[in-house]
Amino acid sequence: MLAKIPGPDGKLIPGVKGISLFIVPRKLVKADGTITGQRNDVALAGLNHKCGYRGTVNTLLNFGEGKFPVNGQAGAVGYLIGKEGEGLKCMFTLMNEARISVGLGATMLGYAGYEASLEYAKQRPQGRAMGAGGKDHSAPQIPIIQHTDVKRMLMMQKAVAEGGLALGLLCAQLVDDEYTVSPDERDNARLLLELLTPIAKSWPSEWAQEANSQAIQILGGYGYTRDFPVEQYWRDNRLNMIHEGTHGIQGLDLLGRKVVMNGGKALAVLAARISDTVTRAGQVDGLAEHANALAGALQKVGAATKAAWATGVPEEALANATPYLQAFGHTVMAWIWLELALAAKTAQAAGEWDKGPLGTGFLKGKLATADYFYAYELPKIDAWLGVVARRDLTCARAEADWF
Ligand SMILES: Cc1cc2nc3c(=O)[nH]c(=O)nc-3n(C[C@H](O)[C@H](O)[C@H](O)COP(=O)(O)OP(=O)(O)OC[C@H]3O[C@@H](n4cnc5c(N)ncnc54)[C@H](O)[C@@H]3O)c2cc1C
Repeated sequence: MLAKIPGPDGKLIPGVKGISLFIVPRKLVKADGTITGQRNDVALAGLNHKCGYRGTVNTLLNFGEGKFPVNGQAGAVGYLIGKEGEGLKCMFTLMNEARISVGLGATMLGYAGYEASLEYAKQRPQGRAMGAGGKDHSAPQIPIIQHTDVKRMLMMQKAVAEGGLALGLLCAQLVDDEYTVSPDERDNARLLLELLTPIAKSWPSEWAQEANSQAIQILGGYGYTRDFPVEQYWRDNRLNMIHEGTHGIQGLDLLGRKVVMNGGKALAVLAARISDTVTRAGQVDGLAEHANALAGALQKVGAATKAAWATGVPEEALANATPYLQAFGHTVMAWIWLELALAAKTAQAAGEWDKGPLGTGFLKGKLATADYFYAYELPKIDAWLGVVARRDLTCARAEADWF
């Protein structure tokens, strides 16, 4: 529970500085932490009936309304965690980890939808193959996985599910690096993790839900029924852009704080890591074009960041923080996919291409998904960064009575 403690003058400190963190249990506790039988003044107002995530209970609680008076008085007892006035700082110990977990949860829902729709697409016969001369109506029907548009929807889901998982694993590695790499490198790992946290949270939340929508689409009418699980994944995933800091708040955190903190040092650490990947991929047959595209995207993100802050007016800089978040996320994921493609090429060079339990399609599928990301997804950043770099104020200037 985040709440404010009045000062000696009885007044509250305005803004987040005055916030403290408390634990407010249902039953009061003794000094040694053991629970007493005495009820705290916390009452269940009711359950929230949610769109998704129905496997977890979500409640509305009322505090201190006198339903369970403590020592004859209305008012819930809260036990202070950490120091007074440092509530937000303490909460972020939990929140930073929670944001990465939210992203990983979103990715897993995206993965589940991908697998369900892949299975369906392999089995569902509908339509006929398109040959050079068009369709042959006397030919047998084909499974829908052979239709280009269905493959496009599977490719999008694969890009999100496998790319999102790789991003989650990178963040997990950075958590370890903060404790295990050389002291000089620890600071870089911490900075990179701080910078990537809004991306790890927001990118899967937005795009894995879109992936779930594509999974529904592949199942056609059945996708919209409760006979198949994909509609549930979509409903469940809708939460992830909302809780643990909404999408809009992640954008403000990224452009308003993370890319400018320490004189832009975190962004410089990321740029160095991406540039290293660009250099390595530039020397690999079949990946040089992607390496160039990634170098270009990184340059555009850097230029848009500078342009956004060129006037130093936060209202202008942050007017398009969400499109910035989207473009930044897609650039990070292009980096991740180039790393995955490099790993696939390395495995190919080591002769693992056509043997082993992964099957022949495994590495080809990775490389094709990297191609998909660079052809269909990365070019979107130009539209997003355009409004950022121009400091477009179309939305900012809209007045409430225009709607
Ligand atoms: C299923 C579920 C479980 C939850 N569990 C918990 C829990 O365990 N503990 C807990 O504390 N909370 C929990 N929450 C609450 C959740 O964290 C909040 O709903 C969430 O942070 C958004 O806050 P809000 O609902 O007050 O929305 P608001 O803050 O009212 O936001 C509404 C919209 O306005 C936008 N907005 C708000 N402020 C700004 C701004 N300054 N600039 C730009 N845009 C802005 C937001 O981005 C959003 O789009 C849960 C919510 C749900 C749905």
